[in-house]
Amino acid sequence: FGEFEFVEEGAQLDDRGGVAEDVPVVAVVGRPNVGKSTLVNRILGRRAAVVEDVPGVTRDRVAYDAEWRGRRFTLVDTGGWDPDAKGFMARVAAQAELAVAAADVVVFVLDVTVGATDIDEAVVRILRRAGKPVIVAANKADDVRGEADAAALWNLGLGEPHPVSALHGRGSGDLLDAIFAVLPEAPRRREPAEGGPHRVALVGKPNVGKSSLLNRLAGEERVVVDAVAGTTVDPVDELVELGGKVWRFIDTAGIRRRVREASGHEYYASLRTAAAIDRAEVVVVLLDAAQPLSEQDLRIISNVVEAGRGLVLAFNKWDLVDEERRLRLEKELDRQLRIRWAPRVNLSALTGWHVDRLVRAIETSLEGWSTRVPTAELNAFLGRLVAAHPHPVRGGKQPRILFGTQPQTSPPKIVLFTTGYLEPVYRRFLERRLREEFGFAGSPIQISMRIRQ
Ligand code: GDP
Ligand code: GDP
Repeated sequence: FGEFEFVEEGAQLDDRGGVAEDVPVVAVVGRPNVGKSTLVNRILGRRAAVVEDVPGVTRDRVAYDAEWRGRRFTLVDTGGWDPDAKGFMARVAAQAELAVAAADVVVFVLDVTVGATDIDEAVVRILRRAGKPVIVAANKADDVRGEADAAALWNLGLGEPHPVSALHGRGSGDLLDAIFAVLPEAPRRREPAEGGPHRVALVGKPNVGKSSLLNRLAGEERVVVDAVAGTTVDPVDELVELGGKVWRFIDTAGIRRRVREASGHEYYASLRTAAAIDRAEVVVVLLDAAQPLSEQDLRIISNVVEAGRGLVLAFNKWDLVDEERRLRLEKELDRQLRIRWAPRVNLSALTGWHVDRLVRAIETSLEGWSTRVPTAELNAFLGRLVAAHPHPVRGGKQPRILFGTQPQTSPPKIVLFTTGYLEPVYRRFLERRLREEFGFAGSPIQISMRIRQ
């Protein structure tokens, strides 16, 4: 089961971190007391839980969801440095370098009432080398005089200083506009579900009972298309009412036709399956409970996970399952199918037994599939988790998770900013804990790392 290894891994990691580009990262850097936290609060537009001191976890780096003029971005408060700490300059440099490595835009905060200090100058050198857009926030410019002092910061050579008073709000709109102007172009986001009935694909190998189940679900009376306002239905789709809701079953013509087709159309059947999975939000994979789990079954499941769709496992022909077969099936599942997160329904399309449970399973998957974890919550969780279970040291180095965001749902994608490569075992552990904490039942989670260079 070559492909299956992949599913077993659980999290699908894109080590190049391609997905992270969905939501740009803006890091706020600066020495202690220049007003970084105040500015972060100002940008978030609320008294956020910025000073959410979790014991044992520094507020070293805290990430939040932010938005300005309809653009979402992740705002990272890089926290303060303790000027009395040993190796302070090294820490400052490390912090700034880190922010630069992880961020798309750096907001460098200075205090105009103090001006640029030696530490600020050290940070400037790092920022200049990095070649990322830097916005100079000349903070504590509470009045006209402060604005004049801000002009002195032109000397830093980082471009125009933006006078701002994080405390009173003065200039913060202009600062945000300056940030907005250098945010990288966001790639086109996937269209949200068009508001119509949710799209469900019913797939499975030939003779597993797809058309029997579809007939069972659709019943004798077909849903009248006109009855559902504003829906245009692809002639290959079928609207089915289940649990008081209308669902769009995808490519049912393919299912119905298959019954009449002679065998030998494997290739086309698998293309149809792939296309149906692609169009669906949730996929019900139908399995024959009376037969051993086959490579084809596992491949289909694997395709659903790879496509990032909600998954329901439906074991059909349960009327043929006796106690012996049931026990053997559980063993097969245990050994070959390591997916623990997909809702499972045992049913019989022939007798109609438990068919009514399918809708609840579909709803569960849909819910997990569209779960969004707010960035602050995700990071509070990661902070606790990493403090209790740090990544093992490898070759004298310990990869750390700096922060994470969930730039998108449907399927949930989580981007972790790390100082090194996270081992598969640790990634699986993370995925398990993420599921325990936030649900995601019935949905694959795509986790990618952005490793600091
Ligand atoms: P951080 O250590 O850089 O995060 O700085 P804080 O946000 O904790 O702010 C340090 C101090 O500066 C606090 O007492 C703030 O109230 C104050 N402060 C922050 N922004 C301003 C500002 O725009 N004007 C003035 N006058 N004080 C500010
Ligand atoms: P499809 O190729 O996946 O669409 O499968 P069909 O719906 O055509 O079913 C294939 C065969 O399995 C038919 O002979 C069905 O009567 C039979 N079948 C379907 N569901 C069940 C079930 O729940 N129990 C039993 N015993 N047979 C079933």
